Amino acid sequence: MLSARAASLKPSPTLAISAKEKALKAQGIDIAGFGAGEPDFDTPAHIKEAAIKAINDNFTRYTPVTGIDPLKDAIIDKFARDNGLTYKREEVIVSCGGKHGLYNLFQALFQEGDEVIVPTPFWVSYPPMIELADAKPVILETREEDDYQITPDLLKKYLTPRTKAIILNYPSNPVGSVFYRENLEAIGKLAVEKGFFLISDEIYEKLVYDDYKHVSIASMDPAFKERTIICHGVSKTYAMTGWRIGYSAGPAAIIKAMGNIQSQSTSNPTSVSQMAALAALSGKQDFIATMVAEFKKRKDFLVKSMRSIEGVSCYDPRGAFYVFPNFNVVMGRKYKDRVVDTSTTLTEILLDEFHTAVVPGVEFGKEGYLRLSFATSMEVIEKGVERITKAVASMS
Ligand SMILES: *Cc1c(COP(=O)(O)O)cnc(C)c1O
Repeated sequence: MLSARAASLKPSPTLAISAKEKALKAQGIDIAGFGAGEPDFDTPAHIKEAAIKAINDNFTRYTPVTGIDPLKDAIIDKFARDNGLTYKREEVIVSCGGKHGLYNLFQALFQEGDEVIVPTPFWVSYPPMIELADAKPVILETREEDDYQITPDLLKKYLTPRTKAIILNYPSNPVGSVFYRENLEAIGKLAVEKGFFLISDEIYEKLVYDDYKHVSIASMDPAFKERTIICHGVSKTYAMTGWRIGYSAGPAAIIKAMGNIQSQSTSNPTSVSQMAALAALSGKQDFIATMVAEFKKRKDFLVKSMRSIEGVSCYDPRGAFYVFPNFNVVMGRKYKDRVVDTSTTLTEILLDEFHTAVVPGVEFGKEGYLRLSFATSMEVIEKGVERITKAVASMS
């Protein structure tokens, strides 16, 4: 009955774990939840007020498919202000979330026979979305020991005449890792030389720590910009996940094709949410620093706590709101009668026996690791750390 496309598609594992976490909490079970992929902060008041005003002003009809001009202009200003990048209106598009922007981009750019390089650990939605566009994800393994870098030598091993694009997500979900400037430079040069595209998912640009300054690959060289599509959105920066507004910027021909796809599927992003996003991008930005300061406290505590578990290592994130500790040390050990053979088994034991929800690393293409979101209260984090420490101690 179902199409082959739908039949082989798995739902997003991170959203599935969040749902399981919520269901257990609803049963009254005290879960320490590290599953969340969204800020635990409320959308700032001035953004909510802009949306309420939009409703009262009856700004409730269809808008232009690719977004209203004032919002496009605010996005253009954001790129100029933060990244030193100049875009025209026809080079930006507003979509129903950053994910939707990526989806439309893949539909616009990829087809059968294309290869798309996806570095590990990857955001869970890239490979299935590439497959939905009939292209092939080519998984490029990066390593914790190498600071999760892609060197030109490593990348060259994966390039073929079929390489259509590489996905760069930095700061990354799930690690919070970033690429060194010289590596971005080398990747950009290879893209220009070999003619593939750079898909730069910069959704965590503003959530960065310890003096790290985000640099968009598009801003490093005009030739890189011609090959780059930046995918971005307001979800993470302004605690606006439910509003569903994302935006992309890149060459006009690609943006136009994304708009055509959007016009035949969702039409415009929600009118009211566009007004909220306009207030977010053009209004006062002090909310971000407040949120980042709180995230930093939690990050520092979690990194220290994970590293204090015997045999566990943990990358100190430069951005985003996740840690990705390496639990390979417990692989092969036993909990009661159960062999901890994979990160999935470890996740199940943590949830069932220790009421702690995390996401298995294998879902991000990295077995032996766990992803813990710190978009949750310090109280929950402390409780969860205690439980995870106890769980590991009880595995032998
Ligand atoms: C959250 C996220 C997105 C998009 O989120 P939206 O809510 O759809 O805007 C895109 N990429 C990564 C890596 C993310 O973590």
